Amino acid sequence: MKRAALWVILLTMPVRSASVPPSTRPALRAQLADNPEVRSALDWFARNLAAINEQQIRLTEIPAPPFQEAQRAAALKAVLTSAGLDVQIDSTGNVIGELRGATEKEIVVLSAHLDTVFPPSTEVKVRHEGNRLLAPGISDNGTGLAALAAIARACHEAHIKPRRTILFVADVGEEGEGNLRGMRALVDAYRTKLKAVIVLDGSGTDHVTTKPRRPQLVRLRHA
Ligand SMILES: [Zn+2]
Repeated sequence: MKRAALWVILLTMPVRSASVPPSTRPALRAQLADNPEVRSALDWFARNLAAINEQQIRLTEIPAPPFQEAQRAAALKAVLTSAGLDVQIDSTGNVIGELRGATEKEIVVLSAHLDTVFPPSTEVKVRHEGNRLLAPGISDNGTGLAALAAIARACHEAHIKPRRTILFVADVGEEGEGNLRGMRALVDAYRTKLKAVIVLDGSGTDHVTTKPRRPQLVRLRHA
């Protein structure tokens, strides 16, 4: 689950230089695959699939309507702390867990939003149908949050020491009226150091969006 996302973040940790020409990426990928810590992190996923699913259920069942993300934020803070990160909640409500790199001058953000589009009265208990899990928000963004927690844990268990500092962020205000307030605050706070922002959203693992899509542009224009 979200194995592709782990690859993405590992690829943002260049071995030598700050920018990696596209032509060298296959070689870098092979190099990473041979790295014992990276192998260990990827193996962790295979061994812990059931626990990752349980985490997704637990987080999904904590309501997080727009502007009411605090309870779920507290849960994420505990989860990221147990993954060995130095965690704080900023004044906007974002949960920020730091995995310090060899340099603190360059930062990669891996984020998943905390909020759902559903009002406070929504029943968020997860139902099982065969091997499917059903509940409002279990995909968007229970999946992203479970992946965020799992990647942090995998890096911790594998003793990965990144060159750049990685911030594992569960951000507020992504949906609707939230108007991206969490992500805006984050970018304002770290703007000069940010090298990449990787967003985990929903359950799709078959593609990575690298350009703004129309709905995102519309939301930004409404700011
Ligand atoms: Zn989403």
